[in-house]
Amino acid sequence: MTRSEIFQALYRSPEIYRPPLEGKSALLEVTQGCSYGKCAFCDFLRDSFAILPLEEIKYKCQLLSQVIDGNDRLFLLGCNPFCLPTEHLLEVMQYVHEYLPSVQMTAMYARADDVLRKSGEELAQLRQAGILELHIGLESGSDAVLKLHNKGETVADMEAACQKLAEYGFHYHFTVIPGLGGRKYSQEHALQTAALLSRLNPVSIWCLKLVIWENTPLYETLKQSPELFQELTPREVLQEEREMFVHMDIQKTCLYVDSTILNKYTIMGVLPDSRQAILDRMDHLLASGEE
Ligand code: SF4
Repeated sequence: MTRSEIFQALYRSPEIYRPPLEGKSALLEVTQGCSYGKCAFCDFLRDSFAILPLEEIKYKCQLLSQVIDGNDRLFLLGCNPFCLPTEHLLEVMQYVHEYLPSVQMTAMYARADDVLRKSGEELAQLRQAGILELHIGLESGSDAVLKLHNKGETVADMEAACQKLAEYGFHYHFTVIPGLGGRKYSQEHALQTAALLSRLNPVSIWCLKLVIWENTPLYETLKQSPELFQELTPREVLQEEREMFVHMDIQKTCLYVDSTILNKYTIMGVLPDSRQAILDRMDHLLASGEE
């Protein structure tokens, strides 16, 4: 097989989703879609959830071994593969060790409730097998906002999951979505998300832009009951994000990134050292009056 034939055989779907931080990781498909699939804003709702059979994953590891080029990072594809039964994930990790010996660290997306369903013993086994980093969609530190968007998890769930992960030596990255509370919950979303992020010490915080995709429940709400959710302008989103940022107290090293500022700019820095520089950039953009 040629290299391009291998890549075609590796992925069922032509669209691959992975966090920007995993840009250099080798990618192994293990699930498709999300096992939860009910968040009101989420565009992945159209993808049905599927678990790839172990035989197929083993074959993909063999294929990947021909193109991995000594990469030491692996990212398992799917919206939340950490939901897989522990035995299944351990079997996948056995293939990884057998066919991809250069891999030292494996990461994937997870929901907080995927973590909470696993016992301490299971988490210890998964950590021992080489899974180190989980990317978790925190979205908001406000229960009202999480409920509004049917996230299916509470702030207490997020905290309990992260406490468990820290106890067993995992690192976690968060995404948050400025503007997710709309106009009604903007202040609460900013302050409570800041408080939650300050308590949890993630390795990175990635701010995502709220995109209102057609055919999502949020899109329907906006069309049929616009009084329930009023979208912020890009400038209001930046003001809200500044409010969150200024109230965050992150003392451990943490990468902070927002690549969607005013739909145009990226702000990025390592906290706590870059705190003032990031704030200055936000203030500069707000003072410019740019929309
Ligand atoms: S958990 Fe994530 S992928 Fe799943 S529906 Fe919610 S936002 Fe979408």
